[in-house]
Amino acid sequence: MTYADPGELTAIPTTVENPGEWSQIYQELSAAHGVPPAVTVDAIAAMVGSALPIFFHADATRGIDIMRGTFSNQVIAQCGAHLGCLGGARPTSALVRLIGAPARRDPPVLRVRVVARTVTPEGNDGTNSQFWDIEFDSETVVSKGACPNCGAPLAAGQLVCSYCHRDARTKVQVPLLVNRVQIY
Ligand SMILES: [Zn+2]
Repeated sequence: MTYADPGELTAIPTTVENPGEWSQIYQELSAAHGVPPAVTVDAIAAMVGSALPIFFHADATRGIDIMRGTFSNQVIAQCGAHLGCLGGARPTSALVRLIGAPARRDPPVLRVRVVARTVTPEGNDGTNSQFWDIEFDSETVVSKGACPNCGAPLAAGQLVCSYCHRDARTKVQVPLLVNRVQIY
């Protein structure tokens, strides 16, 4: 048995273990750095429940491109250097613990502990524990296969369009970005 079709991703049920602490952490983030956009515990749970399958999928299929827009370049590079280290497992559910807002981090981040229940391609159950630093309302540059202005195809790494001579980079606003990952 192999991992699911490379195009297939399923968000997993994710629960925040200590939702009562969010208002205090939110205030700390706001006080130190100005008011971040309204983020709810439900949004954090939904985001982690979608990002974890992407993370495991990238590792299992050795295709890190899927991580762009949800994980920072640093995390993508880290994942790329350790491809396959999750053994082809996929997550089935997750528990998130809100830890806090580490001081003197720019951009400000929310640190969480993510414990995923996993299943291997052979059907064995396991758990995987990680710490994530999550950044809010972040801007990230994604590369597309075609010029956003005229639609001409772009070669890998090409930043300006050779047909319409416009900036071909696409900046996207992402509500939540995983800025750092620590796996034990
Ligand atoms: Zn163009």
